[in-house]
Amino acid sequence: MAGLMQGKRGLVMGVANERSIAWGIAAALAAEGAELAFSYQGEAFGKRVEPLAASVGSDFLVDVDVTNDDSLAACFAALKDRWGTMDFLVHAIAFSDKNELTGRFINTSRTNFKQSLDISCFSFIDVSRRAAELMPEGGSLVTLTYGGSNRVTPNYNVMGVAKAALESATRYLANDLGPQKIRVNAISPGPMKTLAGAAIGGARATFRHTEANAPLRANATLEAIGGTAVYLLSDYGACTTGEIVRVDGGYHVLGMPQQDNL
Ligand code: NAD
Repeated sequence: MAGLMQGKRGLVMGVANERSIAWGIAAALAAEGAELAFSYQGEAFGKRVEPLAASVGSDFLVDVDVTNDDSLAACFAALKDRWGTMDFLVHAIAFSDKNELTGRFINTSRTNFKQSLDISCFSFIDVSRRAAELMPEGGSLVTLTYGGSNRVTPNYNVMGVAKAALESATRYLANDLGPQKIRVNAISPGPMKTLAGAAIGGARATFRHTEANAPLRANATLEAIGGTAVYLLSDYGACTTGEIVRVDGGYHVLGMPQQDNL
């Protein structure tokens, strides 16, 4: 089953290393024939992303900090120069002060609230608008969320609020961009062992708890998330928009832990 993304070009934002969810998605897209550009945050990450990009045949890398308008403008100008148009975008970016990803949510500071919502939610609205300008024939946008958006997950705190905003933004963007045949969806994986994941207090316990209790008794894999992204970004997802697709082993259906784990 190769070639689902043949002839499609897109930007993958948020690869930090080979454990990044964005990398799992990029690898799956490349295996299906997609042509990829990558954005990375700063020189140090650039050094890690370059060989990964090269391994899937891409030398198209752009340094982007989503809080910096100039770097975003330069990124989309580069896409326009090189490709003219594009077919898809993957937004796998989130950030919050680590000190507030532990303890009580009620202690969230104004500064970190603004920063977390800016980087983890507003940036998707921003890049969606910029990408849509390069999608005259339609396209598909995907972001990454987590179930802590609508169920309290200890330590996830302000990031849960940011993900709730991101999921809502996904629906509003889907409605705005639908007439242009641009689809907008979010993938919601269970806990993953990534840099961002490790910043959340009690990450290991959350990982073990989900694995032990999810109906599939397994956590998500980069391959499973990548496969879901291929579905949403390829023509197989043609009538799906505004959706939050869980890739969490079914964890979200539970009302209580499995009896053998009580
Ligand atoms: P990761 O650390 O590999 O990726 C996070 C990326 O965000 C990094 O590449 C980082 O450079 C980028 N980033 C942060 N601030 C930025 C900024 N100002 N400008 C540009 N880029 C910036 O971790 P990940 O787990 O692969 O995270 C990707 C997405 O998946 C995030 O939205 C995260 O919330 C989401 N997610 C993660 C998990 C998990 O358990 N790891 C679960 C569900 C959803």
